[in-house]
Amino acid sequence: MGTRVFVELWQDDPQQAQVLMQRVMDEMERINQLMSPYIDTAELARINREAADHPVSVSTELFKLIQKSNYYSQVSGGAFDITFASLGHRFDYRNRVRPDEAQQKAAAALIDYRQLKLNAAEQTIAFAKPGMRIDLGGIAKGYAVDNAVAILQQAGVNNAVVTAGGDSRLIGDHRGRPWMLGIKHPRGEEHVITVPLSNAAISTSGDYERYFDADGVRFHHIIDPAQGDSARELLSVSILANQSIDADALSTTVFVLGPEKGMKLVNSLAGISAILIDRTGKVSYSNDLIDPTMH
Ligand code: ADP
Ligand code: MG
Ligand code: MG
Repeated sequence: MGTRVFVELWQDDPQQAQVLMQRVMDEMERINQLMSPYIDTAELARINREAADHPVSVSTELFKLIQKSNYYSQVSGGAFDITFASLGHRFDYRNRVRPDEAQQKAAAALIDYRQLKLNAAEQTIAFAKPGMRIDLGGIAKGYAVDNAVAILQQAGVNNAVVTAGGDSRLIGDHRGRPWMLGIKHPRGEEHVITVPLSNAAISTSGDYERYFDADGVRFHHIIDPAQGDSARELLSVSILANQSIDADALSTTVFVLGPEKGMKLVNSLAGISAILIDRTGKVSYSNDLIDPTMH
């Protein structure tokens, strides 16, 4: 998944702890082998190769994740859209490669989740247009974290944290107190905000992990489907939710939507909170995080 995975768990038996760590890593690797666009044998890679030619049958697991992605596309008016990948590797921050305007326009015409033809009865997917691609990078890590948490919970673990990149989920608390999760300053190393959390998920999307700067602007990995270009209204979005899959998808979604529309969406969803940092460094909180006695 191109990221670091971190697991901390509290367990009396150290051997059993090792076994559980390994099970979590195996699950991460299983999901990677299924959903990576870079592994030829991955189901997702096969979809990208074939779905423009004919409907491709999809495993229940992947089909559900694509459906969930499309749900977030619908509630966000297309800000979250797994067909962003139609831009392809023309957008390669690792090599400072970005698409020119013509390429961007051509690809933007292919970015549209409504052009994904999902057949639930047959469990197949087809692309309406040749050249379309999908990528689950905005939601798969959250999904993987939830699966890891399920493995630990089924094994009776009562206190743990699982992190994959910017996506974390906590089981229980940290020895009677909440876990303390830091949100980084988007232009520095220090944590600007510390969030106390138990039994919850938090995901942060930022423009400071994978990027390059050119012509005075930042090219990074969160794409505004409407522009076929990096989203630039916010620097950092953290979402709190019960499950990582929702926190992950929504952190990417809100990053694209920007502060006004993003916060409006968050405030409309039950059980979802947000902490945003905008271009001026201003921090804002969703309604449920604002203490009414402070006003
Ligand atoms: P991270 O990868 O650091 O966890 P995010 O959760 O915000 O960060 O996901 C960013 C990833 O989401 C990108 O690397 C890309 O794979 C995918 N992505 C980028 N733009 C979009 C978008 N508009 N809709 C859905 N997925 C996206
Ligand atoms: Mg995300
Ligand atoms: Mg993520």
